[in-house]
Amino acid sequence: MKQIERDVVIIGAGPSGLTAAYELKKCGKTVAVLEARDRVGGRTWSEEMEGATIEIGGQWISPDQTGLYSLINELGIETFERYKEGKSLYRTAEGETIAYDGEDFPVAPSTVAEMNKLIEVMNGLAAQMDPDKPWEHPQAEELDMISFHHFLREHSSDELACDNVGLFIAGGMLTKPAHTFSALQAVLMASSAGTFDNLVDEDFILDRRIVGTMQGVSKTVAERLGDDVYLENPVLKLEWSQDGVIAHGATVSVKAKKAVIAVPPNLYSRISYVPALPRKQLVTHQHQSMGLVIKVHAVYETPFWREAGLSGTCFGPNAVVQELYDNTYTGESTGTLVGFISDVDADAMWELDEAERKSQILQGIADFLGAKALDPKVFYLSDFAAEEWTRGAYATSYDLGGLTRFGSVQNDNVGPLYFSSSDLAGEGYQHVDGAVRMGRRSAARIIAKLEG
Ligand code: FAD
Repeated sequence: MKQIERDVVIIGAGPSGLTAAYELKKCGKTVAVLEARDRVGGRTWSEEMEGATIEIGGQWISPDQTGLYSLINELGIETFERYKEGKSLYRTAEGETIAYDGEDFPVAPSTVAEMNKLIEVMNGLAAQMDPDKPWEHPQAEELDMISFHHFLREHSSDELACDNVGLFIAGGMLTKPAHTFSALQAVLMASSAGTFDNLVDEDFILDRRIVGTMQGVSKTVAERLGDDVYLENPVLKLEWSQDGVIAHGATVSVKAKKAVIAVPPNLYSRISYVPALPRKQLVTHQHQSMGLVIKVHAVYETPFWREAGLSGTCFGPNAVVQELYDNTYTGESTGTLVGFISDVDADAMWELDEAERKSQILQGIADFLGAKALDPKVFYLSDFAAEEWTRGAYATSYDLGGLTRFGSVQNDNVGPLYFSSSDLAGEGYQHVDGAVRMGRRSAARIIAKLEG
């Protein structure tokens, strides 16, 4: 076992941990990053498959995500626009596929009006929230007591409007059914993106992608950290006192003044803390759970939907694949589609055998884009739930009542231990932007302590 001494040990080489380490090192602190996997990037990860670039994890960046933008600008990394030309498609509950332009789904005008009403309610609530302190919202208690599902139905009797608006946050973001999280959690998701309008506008929230992929951002930061990143070193034991920590990896142990714990909150309890953390933290960590989503990738010889005047953007709240987008990487001649199957639909998909799962998913894509979709040259499903060091996707959120009961301690340090994750962020919550913001915040707090 190699034993080293540093100012700060960082556990987890995802975007949050790497940003923290990078900021600390820029300020002259010595660091070591211990990462469980044999790669950096955490929930951002890309691979080349049959000549196509596949982003298995996080990939999109939106205009408000200025934390991530400032990091990539500093690193000299460019972005490119997601393909958005042409009509979108909407699949009704009756199985009809309708092409449409603009932002409104092609549903009855009364349903559009109800959806807009619900969106306005959410905009109003989000405007009253500081995303860093959702538990201080003037209606925090009452909003945290009611599920998002019931909250929507309190404000509208139009089932389709409730389903469609629910989908943006439930299946689309938290990847949990709308009856399992509170209205306050939904308002946080909206507030973290500025407004609910931003969140429901796919041209905003899924605006651009990173040249060199989102994982490339982590790889670039890791290059700058050089030998300070130790892969294949899961930390399962962390000794701590007010004077410092010892983090035990597989091949290296690090004695440090402070530690940044930059693993997803659902994995905090994988680590044995010696002595144990205070009870409030131990309980809080059990209420932060991952959602579940399957990210479907299908690569074709060409982006055939473009010739038909279609953008590749498809929505169907009741469809097998609820969201679909053109995900062709910049400069590639092949056509790549990405789709999402969320929460209980994902549970059901994983129950099927592999051949049946593939057949149902491809039929789900073909329901939107026709028979040409049935025969891709690459078919790949992102399966972060099966990954030991993530165990779900996209991110963690609280169960009913959790934000008001536990939220206010989530960012407290425990002695020398600082928690850093996209899932603890206000702005950029559950996104790489939030991971970067939290990494910077943790570094700044530690520097202030070490130099104060
Ligand atoms: P992570 O990325 O999870 O990194 C944590 C690191 O800690 C990992 O490398 C892990 O291996 C390591 N680790 C865990 N336990 C230990 C341990 N005990 N010891 C040592 N190391 C450990 N965000 C966007 O902005 N845009 C998107 O389009 C988007 N799409 C997504 C799609 C998918 C399928 C998924 C899964 C996520 C998506 N996200 C997206 C979310 C985004 O990827 C995350 O918010 C971001 O990666 C979180 O960064 P992090 O550093 O906080 O955590």
